Amino acid sequence: MADAQEYSEICEFAIENGAKYVLMNPLSSFGRGSRSKQRLESPDEIMRKVEQNTHAYGNKIELVPIRFPNEDKPLSPCQAGNILYVFPNGNVSACAYISFAAENPGSQHSPQEFIIGNILEDDDVVSKVVDYSFDDYFTQGDNPKCNSCGLNSLCGKGCPAATITSGQKITGVDTGQCPIKNSSSAPPPNTEWICYPKQGT
Ligand code: SF4
Repeated sequence: MADAQEYSEICEFAIENGAKYVLMNPLSSFGRGSRSKQRLESPDEIMRKVEQNTHAYGNKIELVPIRFPNEDKPLSPCQAGNILYVFPNGNVSACAYISFAAENPGSQHSPQEFIIGNILEDDDVVSKVVDYSFDDYFTQGDNPKCNSCGLNSLCGKGCPAATITSGQKITGVDTGQCPIKNSSSAPPPNTEWICYPKQGT
């Protein structure tokens, strides 16, 4: 595993080569596989150090930290349905991560729920993809914690794949990123988003 200093070197390399942004995706446990995440995830203290070390480069290049430790920011909205994934059998998924999450042991969702169409079988797959809206099928954040949260109106509810991976329904809480731990009072609203690149990057 790389140490925190190497991320500074990556930023310098990116700036020297005219890159527009540095995507750190993901150093966290999510996306590491249910059996290998303990071995491959970066601990929170390392991720905080990466953030500290690379902060100074933020005025020269866009830094995009994904699922870094979050203490106080509302979460970004999900991009499922906008960034598609095509399986070898032709199935088009609303999101690769969410399809893989639904395969996890203990998942309360079926991978099929996130298949929009099939490029090999459906004559109308283009219109299926164009017309698809994730929000027409799924509602994130419909749970007691989010419904009573002071950040609710600002919060995009984070990553549904992470929520599913944690064994919850998609309506549950992205507990890995939600800043409201066990406290009943929300921190002051902060309009920065946590966890995903800004749209258009
Ligand atoms: S409790 Fe729900 S609405 Fe509040 S910050 Fe966490 S994910 Fe967002």
